[in-house]
Amino acid sequence: MSVMETRVVDLGHTSHTPNWDALVDELELLQDSDALVCVERADEYLDLARLYGDEHAEMRLLCCAAYAHHVLAHDADALETASRAEHLAHTRGDLVWESRALVCQGLVRREIGDAEGAIDQLERALDLRRQTDDDSGTASVLNSLGTVYMSMPHFAPQAARVLVEARRLWTAAGDTDRASIAQTNLAKAYVATSGRLAASNPRGAAAAARHALGIARQSVEEADAAGLSRTGIDARLAVVGALVLAGDLKAAGLALDGTAAMLQTFPSTRQDLSYHGLRGRWLVHVGRLDEAVLTIVDGLDLCAELDRPSERIDLLTTLVDAYEGRGDLRSALTTMREVHELTLELGDATADRRAQLLSSRLDVEAERSRALALEEHNSRLEHEATHDVLTGLPNRRALDVALARWSTEPGRGFACALLDIDHFKRVNDQWSHQVGDHVLARLGTLLHDLVRDGDVAARYGGEEFAILLDGLNDANATDALERIRQAIAAHEWDDLTPGAGLTVSMGVAVHQPNEPIESLLSRADAALYEVKHNGRNGVRLAR
Ligand code: GH3
Ligand code: MG
Ligand code: MG
Repeated sequence: MSVMETRVVDLGHTSHTPNWDALVDELELLQDSDALVCVERADEYLDLARLYGDEHAEMRLLCCAAYAHHVLAHDADALETASRAEHLAHTRGDLVWESRALVCQGLVRREIGDAEGAIDQLERALDLRRQTDDDSGTASVLNSLGTVYMSMPHFAPQAARVLVEARRLWTAAGDTDRASIAQTNLAKAYVATSGRLAASNPRGAAAAARHALGIARQSVEEADAAGLSRTGIDARLAVVGALVLAGDLKAAGLALDGTAAMLQTFPSTRQDLSYHGLRGRWLVHVGRLDEAVLTIVDGLDLCAELDRPSERIDLLTTLVDAYEGRGDLRSALTTMREVHELTLELGDATADRRAQLLSSRLDVEAERSRALALEEHNSRLEHEATHDVLTGLPNRRALDVALARWSTEPGRGFACALLDIDHFKRVNDQWSHQVGDHVLARLGTLLHDLVRDGDVAARYGGEEFAILLDGLNDANATDALERIRQAIAAHEWDDLTPGAGLTVSMGVAVHQPNEPIESLLSRADAALYEVKHNGRNGVRLAR
């Protein structure tokens, strides 16, 4: 039995509320280390959260699952899951988790080449996060936004700006460890800019590379001081990149050896791939072309393992240079063709991923509007089942439910009145059944308005109504109903029953402890009968 199974069985047996914080922590750890297991566990925990009806837990678990899907490059699942998390967070007014869900969607969009969409969602995430006055959280969104800007050649200044701000906020919040992450990304951004300049403006590229080098060296120091090995390796890779671009090949070689040593202690396929790319390029520069070819071929294997076609293009481009340097023009040409085909394919694949995503998003929208329509339909059915169509008041069934609840609630005192219209047959006879209906509807509205919030006025049947009055006793029940009776008698009825007005009779009984409902109703009915017997248009308290 796996660890996961043991845990879920435990939860079931003890029937304790699961420790959601611990489960979320566990998933957050798994997101990067083992995204597949993270997704599996998230599914199980989500079932649990729904079982417990805990939306706060569901929202957080969805967010973790979305990140794991993102790591696994399951774009559609990642977006769908993140947008459900976003929706839950939004309805709960939870700015932090709404922001996290948006960041995840932004990162996925960048992955599929929708940079504008990515920026848009990350800017929204940033806006929400700024409202929470949580500098560290804001810095984290800025850092993500910086990495997206970094991948867009025209946005290099923006990348630098947000990464600098991320670093400043993290430093101010006392989080120097994560400040070094922003610094490393900043170094990478400068290296990328310098690399782009290299072809068109070699002198500008060298200046940018020297600037990048300063920042990269500082981030190595900071990452080492913070003990962040992963960031430390990224920072060293940035140093190597800057040195190669600055043309300091000797120092670049030493820095490569240092990075290799660190990668041995802290292996990571993603970073190993970057390392191979840089080493291959360096070997070409120093003229060790056979070694360059071997290194790049190793790198291409890593690409296949990671399913990173875009990094493959970079490696193949360096390979072309290596073959060319060796004078092997045939191999250089074959490789060049592969680069060309791959570039086209990658464009298609990106378009394909975007199309798939679009259709799955439409499915999600359709599903959401179906769910809304069903919800509306159900609440309408529920209303129809518990309300009277003519008067809009709760019906007899709803009254029975309220009576059952009120009479069994410990400590609740209440009065129950039965109201019958006086000489209603005459209304029907003299003005028509339709006018009679109008009178009933009007009386329903009046009663609804005359009782206090928390009281219940219901149609009991025919031209009889019932009123439940919360907190009333023998001393004050009659007065309250007398006010209602007078208001009905004083109402302007001339548009419906000209010259005749309308009066009602009421019998009221105050609920006795443990008294059955039938007894309460029959006492009220008896009091009503007495009012009718004594000339109508009055209120009487039951014995
Ligand atoms: P009393 O003062 O003794 O109550 O005299 P009444 O004429 O009101 O006598 P009773 O309560 O026996 O008559 C009720 C009448 O209400 C009989 C029925 O036709 C009429 N009625 C019951 N339900 C409706 C309804 O939904 N619409 C209309 N227009 N009339 C109704
Ligand atoms: Mg009647
Ligand atoms: Mg009547």
